[in-house]
Amino acid sequence: MSRIEFFEERCKGCMLCTLVCPKELIVSSERFNTMGYKVVEVDKNKMDQCTGCASCAKMCPDYVITVYKTVKPKKESGND
Ligand code: SF4
Ligand code: SF4
Repeated sequence: MSRIEFFEERCKGCMLCTLVCPKELIVSSERFNTMGYKVVEVDKNKMDQCTGCASCAKMCPDYVITVYKTVKPKKESGND
């Protein structure tokens, strides 16, 4: 299962990441960081829908998001 983590203290609440997630997983939270910005989050129950595509991390101008992509095991080729 792929997942993402936020370094919340760097988030400026710009919401750009919410626009690019193909699964629409990222939403505004009710929390503010110490800089006073409203941070984003992913519902724990929905994180298993994350594909690890990293679109959110690439879009974030403040390097808030780290993506942990699950590597699928390679299939046996069966050709030998
Ligand atoms: S890695 Fe892709 S699927 Fe996962 S939260 Fe980011 S944009 Fe959405
Ligand atoms: S793009 Fe980055 S700074 Fe903007 S809301 Fe998302 S995580 Fe926060």
